[in-house]
Amino acid sequence: MTYANWNYPTSISVGEGVVSSLPEHCKKLNICSPLLVTDPFLAKLDVVAEMVSQCQRQNINIEVFCDIQGNPTDLNVNRGIAAYNANAHDGIIAFGGGSSLDAAKAVALCARQTLPLWSFEDVGDNWMQADEAKIAPVIAIPTTAGTGSEVGRASVITDAVNHVKKIVFHPKMLPVQVLLDPKVTVGLPPHITAATGMDALSHSLEAYCAPGYHPMADGIAIESMKLIKHFLYPAFIDGNDINARTQLLVASSMGATAFQKGLGAMHALAHTLGGMYDKHHGLLNAILMPYVLEANRPVIENKMTDLATALALQSQSFDAVHQWVLDMRQVLGIPHTLAEIEINADDAVKIGQLAVNDAAAGGNPIPFSANDYTQLFMHALTGQKTQQ
Ligand SMILES: [Zn+2]
Repeated sequence: MTYANWNYPTSISVGEGVVSSLPEHCKKLNICSPLLVTDPFLAKLDVVAEMVSQCQRQNINIEVFCDIQGNPTDLNVNRGIAAYNANAHDGIIAFGGGSSLDAAKAVALCARQTLPLWSFEDVGDNWMQADEAKIAPVIAIPTTAGTGSEVGRASVITDAVNHVKKIVFHPKMLPVQVLLDPKVTVGLPPHITAATGMDALSHSLEAYCAPGYHPMADGIAIESMKLIKHFLYPAFIDGNDINARTQLLVASSMGATAFQKGLGAMHALAHTLGGMYDKHHGLLNAILMPYVLEANRPVIENKMTDLATALALQSQSFDAVHQWVLDMRQVLGIPHTLAEIEINADDAVKIGQLAVNDAAAGGNPIPFSANDYTQLFMHALTGQKTQQ
């Protein structure tokens, strides 16, 4: 079988059944004893058993570690590090949604370092403290099309003590090989397909709106949004649509490639709310999206006009993009307000303070204050200003 093979932003092989080339890639990278990091549900899938037996047949000593929860914590990462070191592993297979991929990349970064996980929080030049030569090579196989963590150089990990999401960063956390196989995403239920697809959209949309000169990121973001426009709903309606699943995986990788340019207020709030309420990251972004677009409207009107043209929307205007987002949310069954997913106003002030300090806030086209974030949160909580 031949697959599409790309080398930007890292080495990516795309196609139905491409996971069966895992042993080949391990050999190419001199990985003889990988630790496959995933979650307990995915660990039971036939595809994992197949990957394990294929590797074993090629004398690759693979072990499965599956103690990873959604919104992974430092405790998950530390257990993964212990498993990695217990059996002298020499590489990581990251298999799963964003949570597993992020946890796996953090294990790869930290397993052989003398410094603990939070030493590499994405603050200043912290990453330079890592011994680069000791970072394990990662082969990433995403099972959802959303986070794009397979092409990212960072992980979002929850600090279990303070219930805050932190970003851990190192350029060498970028997986050396990515396998995009639509077959491993066909089992995703529609609501997860929707939420993860909207996460991918939020990455491209926020990257596109982020200030700064980066035409490459802007171009990738626009193409990714086109793919999502055409293929998210078909994949939501028919999970077995292999072409739609393939295109969404690619769009997701593209979204994460684009957001090296920056994210913004959707993610600043989604990280904050995810840490406090343990809600699905993509779902939070999907709910927040139209409210953030409205809040940024004064400075993104021109960009939205260009985007409306690229997406061939009914009119070339901010309103057309805004309406497209609302319509897309509606057909995908995404709630219109945060109140509908049992978030309340109790911590509104604290949420504003945490959001303004989130790393993603720096990419927002308007530098919102803590108070602005509180207000934005209240709009998304109650549906104020933005009509469905
Ligand atoms: Zn995201």
